[in-house]
Amino acid sequence: MINLATKEKKTFSFDKNHSLNILYAKPDKYKQLEEISGKYDEIINTGSNLSYSPLGINKNGISLDLKKFNRIIDFDENEKTITVEAGITLIDLLNFTLSKNLWIPQLPGYPTITIGGAVSANSHGKSCALHGTIRKSIKSILLFHKVNGWVKLSEKENKNIFDLTIGGLGLTGTIVQVTFKLININNTFFNTKKISVNNIQESKKYFSRENINNSFIYSWHRADNLSNFGEGIIYENLIDTSSENNFKNFKVKNNNFRPLFFPFWNKFSIKLINKFFLLFNKLDAKEKKEDFLKVIFPFYGKENYFNFFGRKGFLEIQLLINQTYLEQFLDEFKKLYQIHKPSISLFSIKNMSGEQNLIRFEDNKVCLTFDFIKNKSSLSFMEQIDKLYLKYEILPSVAKDSRIGKDTFYKTYKYATEFKKKLYEFDKKRTYKSEVSRRLEL
Ligand SMILES: Cc1cc2nc3c(=O)[nH]c(=O)nc-3n(C[C@H](O)[C@H](O)[C@H](O)COP(=O)(O)OP(=O)(O)OC[C@H]3O[C@@H](n4cnc5c(N)ncnc54)[C@H](O)[C@@H]3O)c2cc1C
Repeated sequence: MINLATKEKKTFSFDKNHSLNILYAKPDKYKQLEEISGKYDEIINTGSNLSYSPLGINKNGISLDLKKFNRIIDFDENEKTITVEAGITLIDLLNFTLSKNLWIPQLPGYPTITIGGAVSANSHGKSCALHGTIRKSIKSILLFHKVNGWVKLSEKENKNIFDLTIGGLGLTGTIVQVTFKLININNTFFNTKKISVNNIQESKKYFSRENINNSFIYSWHRADNLSNFGEGIIYENLIDTSSENNFKNFKVKNNNFRPLFFPFWNKFSIKLINKFFLLFNKLDAKEKKEDFLKVIFPFYGKENYFNFFGRKGFLEIQLLINQTYLEQFLDEFKKLYQIHKPSISLFSIKNMSGEQNLIRFEDNKVCLTFDFIKNKSSLSFMEQIDKLYLKYEILPSVAKDSRIGKDTFYKTYKYATEFKKKLYEFDKKRTYKSEVSRRLEL
């Protein structure tokens, strides 16, 4: 019998909208994982707890912190495959693969996110127009389930559970190992181009499906007032193929997220900083060489953006919308803006490719992101935006928006009931539950 200490701690969702007293354990052996899982009726798995909404925490049962399962298990240079434990961080995985000129390109924007977290959220990165979501790079998964035991998942083995697990928000069990298909990358430097735009109309052509090529295209826009709405910068990153570089390991600091006691962001400071940011970008070189960390993990080193919201936190919505509806939706968005006057600190656009199914945030659509200061006007504005989802066939991200209710979820995720049914078929007791799954009655 292995004795594994459990501890209580107050835990927050990344956006600070939810705080829970949780009981957690940090197993470092598979036997411990089996034993501790056997003791609790409700379990949730936790990676780095960097999800904006409370996906990896639960007030009942046990939260399993899997960061000690962080080894590289197997690497096949000829086949270009790697098997890692799910608690490994993106940066530790990359430090190994990049030294072999290999990588997976679907990397969410912070280096200490774990593989288990990224697979469960079906994460995507800057290049999601070209490379889709992380689902595209997964060859197989080794899952541990309290009732069903050790289960191998792939297109050929237990395909149903494989599909439920990728983007399944940790509800099918503990992902213990993941095998990825890697692709070549000959350089960790990118050529970045910046193009100034005055409004969304001017940006539209960069996000048309015909414009998808080898570069990673995304944008940043002002949304701090209506007269400049949409003014911004289009960024285009292209891997520098002109030379090969000698890759040296990246050293990253641990999460630097420490919210200020008093928030710095308000309508005035957002407007001022946005103005300077835009000016700086306009004066800066239109084309330059940028390093991997800066391009792939844009928030690394810029943690103060989040810290400046203070202890009350912030709100984000991330929406997938058909290109053809983009302008019409943003026109209604602006009308509601005029009425509710929300405080928007970030507005960005990128393209995505993929196929929506089950509860996966994925489609051949444009991906819009808005961050808000949490206040009454932002909240009433967001409630009105929620009502536009059906009209414009919008898919909102559950991982990013910690407000999403059951009604919005089942109306927008048309395969969610199928997901739920299959999940119950796999585990009648529905062992793996989070704060979010409870709210969504999954
Ligand atoms: C600064 C920042 C930038 C981000 N940028 C992006 C981005 O560009 N694109 C994007 O898609 N997302 C992005 N995200 C969101 C992030 O990718 C996801 O929320 C991811 O799930 C967080 O991983 P984590 O290791 O922190 O997992 P946690 O937040 O701890 O858990 C997330 C989910 O994964 C499950 N889980 C974790 N480990 C396991 C496991 N071993 N087995 C089973 N389930 C498990 C949990 O139960 C939970 O449902 C960003 C987040 C931050 C903070």
